[in-house]
Amino acid sequence: MTVVVPGRTACLECFLPEVRPGIIPAIGSVVSVIGGIEATETIKMISGKGKPLVGRLLSLKASTWDIRIAELERRPGCTGCSGND
Ligand SMILES: [Zn+2]
Repeated sequence: MTVVVPGRTACLECFLPEVRPGIIPAIGSVVSVIGGIEATETIKMISGKGKPLVGRLLSLKASTWDIRIAELERRPGCTGCSGND
């Protein structure tokens, strides 16, 4: 999970260049958890409250519920966002 701000942050293709839309494997129940986090991030972005996941990647391992947050940078030459500056 991350917040993509066009022209400012990494896009999906920056950190998963080999994955194409529609083929990311996911378990339905986990998708609902991520959907709740995404909704919260949207509220944070709109309200200006909290620290949204701009430039950071939240990873959730459902088998253990380990959560990690890592810094995320744009990949030079990324075809997904290189024209969005
Ligand atoms: Zn990109």
